[in-house]
Amino acid sequence: MMKKEEEEEEEEEIIAEKRRKSREYYLREKERVKKYYEDNKEKIIQRQTIYNQSNKEKIREYQQEYYKKNKTKIIERHSEKTYCKFCDKNLNFNNFKSHCTTLKHFKNFVLY
Ligand SMILES: [Zn+2]
Repeated sequence: MMKKEEEEEEEEEIIAEKRRKSREYYLREKERVKKYYEDNKEKIIQRQTIYNQSNKEKIREYQQEYYKKNKTKIIERHSEKTYCKFCDKNLNFNNFKSHCTTLKHFKNFVLY
């Protein structure tokens, strides 16, 4: 039991390290990465769609596991208050994205 947990921790560390390196690379080569994405957009989206379809179960399991592990953090973040400077309104972080698609927000955004 103990050994399995250690292994999991080690695996998580490796993933975190990979993410950090990938982030560093992105920040260093931002313009090149953006250009590559623009040039190969269709190919990348297609590849991502195929991956998502063939790994549906794995992805769902990962998401459920992630939610279980970070439940309090996620709830905390989603109940955070956000301020929309265009509408002069306080909102929940949870509702902010959908608020940005409303007509009212769009009008205020144009008039700002
Ligand atoms: Zn707004």
